[in-house]
Amino acid sequence: MTSLHRRCLLGERLSGEVLLDCHAHIGRHSDYVIPMNRPEELADEMRRLNIRGAFAFQFTGVTGGEVQYGNDVIAGACRRVPGRFLGLTMVNPLFERDVVPELERCHQLGFVGIKLITHYQGYPTDGPLLETICAYAHEHGMPVLNHAWGAPLEDWLRKYPRCQFITGHWDPAHGHLTRQYDNLWICTCLPISHKSFERGLREMRIDRVMWGSDMSDLQFGVGLGPILMARAEDDVKRRVIGLNMLELLATCGIPAPPAWDSDQ
Ligand SMILES: [Zn+2]
Repeated sequence: MTSLHRRCLLGERLSGEVLLDCHAHIGRHSDYVIPMNRPEELADEMRRLNIRGAFAFQFTGVTGGEVQYGNDVIAGACRRVPGRFLGLTMVNPLFERDVVPELERCHQLGFVGIKLITHYQGYPTDGPLLETICAYAHEHGMPVLNHAWGAPLEDWLRKYPRCQFITGHWDPAHGHLTRQYDNLWICTCLPISHKSFERGLREMRIDRVMWGSDMSDLQFGVGLGPILMARAEDDVKRRVIGLNMLELLATCGIPAPPAWDSDQ
């Protein structure tokens, strides 16, 4: 049993470790209740667990609601809890004319990347607007987290090397591409089983796997547990729970959220 495995079983705060979450939501969902939907509540839970920061995006536009409203919710969260939430702009390519202006508007507001979920919004995963968005991210050296990348992913990885492509969810099918392209990152976001995670670590580049919680849809511990208790070295787990995302932030020139006062 490794030290992180033991600390997880004891329910200890992971003091002294770097935890960064690459997949978190803030706000309300139209379909069901989100009990912890205020940014301050989320930040309190992050402080309690020693999670330094998170890529944060809205729920509203996931199933086709107003993405501008949802992005404003995220901008507000970033203002209310400075330095903890790194906003990703959500766009809906079905509203084609709004896409680039919304990316520009949010870029001005300090958003650091882009979140896509066209699979739910009803836009094809190989639609032309997605390439426009990847080209935009390439131009600005930004991360783009997509719920599900479609068939053109490999072409785009090659064509847009300054765009950092993140799979929104655990995606072993695309894992092998991490061996060929530095700009592909695999999020551990659920569902993930122990064996699937351990197998994935063997097949993917371990410096390209990042923990994502899906907070506040799911609690932080749901996804952290299987990582901390996996049959893997602590150094590998450390990369997955935070150090890899630190590398991604540095690659994109995004300031990393600082350690909490209680962990210095
Ligand atoms: Zn999610």
